[in-house]
Amino acid sequence: MDVLRLDQIDPWLSGNKPLKLQGWLQQFRCSGKRALLSFGGPHSNHLHALAYLAFRQQLPARLVVRGYAHLPLTPTLQDCRHWQAQLQFAGRVEYQRRYDPDYQQQLARQYDALVIPEGGAGAAGAAGCQGLAQVACAYDEVWLAVGSGTTALGLAAGLAARKAQTRLVGVNAVADQGERQRHWQQQMPAGVCWELIDGARGGFARADEALLALIGRYDEWQLPLEPVYTAKLLAALEPRLPALEGRRILLVHSGGLQGRRGYGLSVPDAVLGRYAG
Ligand SMILES: *Cc1c(COP(=O)(O)O)cnc(C)c1O
Repeated sequence: MDVLRLDQIDPWLSGNKPLKLQGWLQQFRCSGKRALLSFGGPHSNHLHALAYLAFRQQLPARLVVRGYAHLPLTPTLQDCRHWQAQLQFAGRVEYQRRYDPDYQQQLARQYDALVIPEGGAGAAGAAGCQGLAQVACAYDEVWLAVGSGTTALGLAAGLAARKAQTRLVGVNAVADQGERQRHWQQQMPAGVCWELIDGARGGFARADEALLALIGRYDEWQLPLEPVYTAKLLAALEPRLPALEGRRILLVHSGGLQGRRGYGLSVPDAVLGRYAG
């Protein structure tokens, strides 16, 4: 088994989020808009990557954050502010409108912004992930964690374009009552063999003792994971390993290590030097 260490792309900008944002930035350059705007929770890997990318490219970024302004800033949001992103808090009810086209249009007009969906989802985000197929097509199976499913759909499009026989296995980190499964049945490109495993373990971003113990085990093996996605990927994979004997497997490490801070876990020095402790 090989691990594609997207967590090691760059100390500040790692995982699948920069791939998705690459697609969205292309859209932004053609849009004539002044700013980038997106949505996320207070520990969001997506907002973290967006703020850093915008900072590096000197583009204004406005982040609509689920939460309240009077609460202390999470380490994730402290970074975003450090990178000069504008934070705007939305309470539960307002945040529920994040997919509402009227709400998005209003924000787009108000800030002359390109509105990027939560998580960098959507066709532009998926397009940015197609290139993963270049690596994955050499394997019998590619395994990855699934949230919005954007990364997996982009990878699948890349596999289909190459007529690769690689089987795609997604581990769904979101407890969604089969919604992702139904969505993929409609959206997966023809010819791609795939499976979606329910890996939410009691809910999105929920970490039980066993999951934290698994993270500790992989820390010792120098494969740092985080509780929301990548630890759930490994937890789903481990019991299936005997059945995968002899198969060439590519495991996609989709990053997100900055989010360990939200669970009181240290961030490995080697990954994010400044964050240690
Ligand atoms: C966002 C994220 C995912 C999920 O990616 P999708 O494209 O939304 O399916 C997986 N792993 C990590 C670490 C993430 O931050």
